[in-house]
Amino acid sequence: MENINWSELGFGYMKTNGNVRCEYHDGSWGKLEWHTDEYIQMHMAATCLHYGQEAFEGLKAFRGKDNKIRIFRLDENAKRLDSSCDGICMPKLPEGMFKEAVIEVVKKNVEFVPPYESGAALYIRPVLFGYTPQIGVNPAKDYLFIIFVSPVGPYFKGGFSTNPYVITRKYDRSAPLGTGIYKVGGNYAASLRAHEEAHKAGYSSEFYLDAKEKRYIDECGAANFFGIKDNTYVTPKSTSILPSITNKSLMQLAEDLGLKVERRPIPEEELSTFEEAGACGTAAVISPISRLDDLDNNKSYIFSKDGKPGPWSTKLYQKLRAIQYGDEPDTHNWVTIL
Ligand SMILES: *Cc1c(COP(=O)(O)O)cnc(C)c1O
Repeated sequence: MENINWSELGFGYMKTNGNVRCEYHDGSWGKLEWHTDEYIQMHMAATCLHYGQEAFEGLKAFRGKDNKIRIFRLDENAKRLDSSCDGICMPKLPEGMFKEAVIEVVKKNVEFVPPYESGAALYIRPVLFGYTPQIGVNPAKDYLFIIFVSPVGPYFKGGFSTNPYVITRKYDRSAPLGTGIYKVGGNYAASLRAHEEAHKAGYSSEFYLDAKEKRYIDECGAANFFGIKDNTYVTPKSTSILPSITNKSLMQLAEDLGLKVERRPIPEEELSTFEEAGACGTAAVISPISRLDDLDNNKSYIFSKDGKPGPWSTKLYQKLRAIQYGDEPDTHNWVTIL
């Protein structure tokens, strides 16, 4: 391993010591295997390539001041992968295997977990897909589960800050009864174009309304939305939103901090009543929204007048980070210490 410049890390792939894999054949999962090869050999007719039978996860491990390594909400990610597997007809992993695989891949790549001071973390990427060679549209018979890791830099290089977003009515990420609630690659393919256009226009990301009526808030690109007003944390309830584990954690912390928490449909007009708003997910924890433009209606919702994150967003962000890095007690048992 060469010397890594921890402060220069972005969100990219870096080769590490290796990855953990497990294969599914003849109706059952095999044993976990350690591989140093970064490549997989796959038949060109593999189902995942043609019909998108693939799901993934994303979680992080953090090195504390005490030098201990903490993995955040391992069990929740395991449950969500189960749900994604169910959603696109893939076999679930045996009970406990996800956790075992994550712990093994982190342990064997322990020198890639960035130092506490860097504000960086080890990103853990589990992926599960069908790869039986077949042309017919059917669930595969053979599956591969792989977990690899890569050190990633702090999301906010210049400090916790706000970004502008833009509402898109031209594209939907997912349908009301579609696969939006599963963490599958197909949803991302469906969002690339909207994301490119938003990015080119100078926005951090696109912002989706519900696909059916275009009346309610859905997601901020690949992150959940929350707004804050009247001492209340409000986040959308919708059948096309990916259940974010960060959002789930923030709802709990908001309650701990004395805020009310509401999970319900949020009509677009309500945006003008929020004092603060943010996008949340594993990558950034919270990415506060400075302003949300609705270009079709010549409207702009402003959530930060001075460009700085609001007080509740800042508090929630600091609280969650403190638990992840072990600076504050893990009162909800969210962290697995290696
Ligand atoms: C992964 C993901 C999120 C964030 O989920 P976390 O568990 O908080 O990382 C939000 N929206 C989409 C579409 C996602 O894929």
